[in-house]
Amino acid sequence: MLSLSTPTKELYMVGPTYAKRLKKLNINTAEDLLHHYPFRYDDFSLISTINQLQLGEVVTIQGKIISYQNIYTKYGKKLQKAVVADQTGQIETIWFNQPFLTKTLKSGLLISLAGKVDWFDRKPALISPEYELIRSKIYDLRSMITIHTGRLVPVYPETYGVSSKWLRSRIAPLIEKLISRTPDWLPQTIKKENNLIDLRLALKEIHFPNSQSEISEAKSRLSFDELFLIQLEALKRKQNWQKNKLTHAFKVNQEKVLELINSLPFNLTSSQNKALKQILDDLKLKNPMNRLLEGDVGSGKTVVAAISMYVAYLNGLKSILMAPTEILAQQHYQTIKTLLEPFGVKIALLTSSNKIGNWKPARSAGGLEIGNYHIVIGTHALIYDKVKLDNLGLVIIDEQHRFGVEQRAKLINKGKSPHILTMTATPIPRTIALTLYGDLDLSVLDEMPPARKEIKTWVVPLEKRLSAYKWISEQIKKEQCQIFIVCPLIEQSDKESMKDIRAATVEFEHLSQKIFPDFKLGLLHGQMKTKDKDKIINDFRDEKLDILVSTPVVEVGIDIPNAAIMMIEGADRFGLAQLHQLRGRVGRSNKQSYCLLFTSTKDKENRQRLAAMQKYISGFKLAEIDLQLRGAGEIYGTEQHGFANLKIASFADSVLMEKTSIAAKKIIPQLNQFPLLQEKLKTYTIKLIEPN
Ligand code: ADP
Ligand code: MG
Repeated sequence: MLSLSTPTKELYMVGPTYAKRLKKLNINTAEDLLHHYPFRYDDFSLISTINQLQLGEVVTIQGKIISYQNIYTKYGKKLQKAVVADQTGQIETIWFNQPFLTKTLKSGLLISLAGKVDWFDRKPALISPEYELIRSKIYDLRSMITIHTGRLVPVYPETYGVSSKWLRSRIAPLIEKLISRTPDWLPQTIKKENNLIDLRLALKEIHFPNSQSEISEAKSRLSFDELFLIQLEALKRKQNWQKNKLTHAFKVNQEKVLELINSLPFNLTSSQNKALKQILDDLKLKNPMNRLLEGDVGSGKTVVAAISMYVAYLNGLKSILMAPTEILAQQHYQTIKTLLEPFGVKIALLTSSNKIGNWKPARSAGGLEIGNYHIVIGTHALIYDKVKLDNLGLVIIDEQHRFGVEQRAKLINKGKSPHILTMTATPIPRTIALTLYGDLDLSVLDEMPPARKEIKTWVVPLEKRLSAYKWISEQIKKEQCQIFIVCPLIEQSDKESMKDIRAATVEFEHLSQKIFPDFKLGLLHGQMKTKDKDKIINDFRDEKLDILVSTPVVEVGIDIPNAAIMMIEGADRFGLAQLHQLRGRVGRSNKQSYCLLFTSTKDKENRQRLAAMQKYISGFKLAEIDLQLRGAGEIYGTEQHGFANLKIASFADSVLMEKTSIAAKKIIPQLNQFPLLQEKLKTYTIKLIEPN
């Protein structure tokens, strides 16, 4: 029997081939198909009699097919001509190259045609109109005798072999057959308070509206649903989390913590202090912390993490810190060692190329015992191991959006409900963070360490390349600073369209020999062996290299304070989020830093993006601009980060975010009174875009 969960391949007129194509649109069930919303409508709602037709007008006419013929023109083209008549007159209708119409357009049938009236062969005619046969009563809904003409006609996101026309004719019967049996899961009170229409009506109206106002009431309802469910889900996760009881309650020894803070080579910023206080307050509670530390690139999250781990150490408990790349894990290892080793903390590094002897305790022959360390810093390698740590007190995940939900869960499960601190440099606006991560408490580092000079950013056209190189040489000599040169590719591509895109390997050779023969250059990219990567990064850190030519592997987290120039080739090929991350590699000391964006793009949106980089330094501001440039549903760096992908609502709609948040908070304590909603939540999954 047909239900919402019926797989697409079993649906009327779909079958396995189309089911496969639909997968590309993320449509797997009848329900998914019902929730595949149009992104615009063609207005064919004006129905005219034939004698009233005006040239240039977009209209629908309805009548009987008088004659039909396939015509071959002198030039070998195929033409299809039908004559259609109603009570007031008749008109010719022309199509090109659609000989298969013979099978459908038989004389005597009733037809509905929508399109523009134009001259053809010195007579007014309908040219390539949308057409459909009128079989009265195929659709119960009285207003839906036609679905491709004579109304506002939905246009959908399409994919290869799946046209809007095809989608319309599969969605219409679902609306007829399925919707009446689909109860609305949204509680009545919520609908009343927010002026929302019934779900069944909303689905009918989003696909086959009778007016603009029906479209907007349907949109209101469906957008509400989307944000409401995300928030309700998050609140439910929070409720579940709060059932966790700590096995190890923490004490915070103020004196010792202050001693560590005083040993730092700098004063904490006031937002670092505030975040730290929030974290330490959490650590003292009986339930485990679940907090997100959000701070723009370079805002100083690592030291906050280090202090938190020190507190775990003072409580006799272990901490794990997981980072998304080896380079970053290595860097954290160095930083944290420097900070904490003087206080007696023992720190280990664990990556796939650097295993501690027996992180695998079962095979503990030789090597180092995990028991000898207080903090283990590592990559994904931390996860893929059976080790359990009974005395794990704190788990920290850096750049948390780089990890999948599963990976995070596995790491956390190494202990018995440890405290969790996740960190991200993606400046999600606060309201959005609270929506998506409503289950997490949020700390924000919204201020940069002092004495930093603002990074100067220039968009550089290609003809200034040589003078830019000359300027870079002078800067290295004058300022003794170091330079990043980032290229979009590793190897040069053979494709014609990609010939002008610079590749790190080629640039490295060219720059070393021809442009910067007096300087020491290094090459870094993702296909190199870990050992070689480490060596290059360390050489760069130790100032044995002046210039690092690299791919965007340097994007995440790398901290080399002496680097003062970031030069990006093909800058238009990167998104705002990525450019901001790359630029964040410089400006990490009191040296004046620069970011040069090389581009030859003429594309308007690309230029706007680069102009925004030139104008704004704050990641939060750039996130806002990204939101505007990309419009509804898209959010800053969505592709690379684990964010929800909205179908119809917009994160920019702050009024709706507020309303749905109020509604979700109201419903969560009485959720068990709404079985339909509970059921909905069970099958509902936010479509998170997981990192590869
Ligand atoms: P991110 O938040 O991007 O992870 P990091 O933790 O790598 O930033 O810190 C960036 C740089 O700023 C590091 O070199 C760090 O030592 C330095 N730093 C952190 N906090 C401060 C501070 N309060 N004052 C001065 N420098 C700081
Ligand atoms: Mg960092």
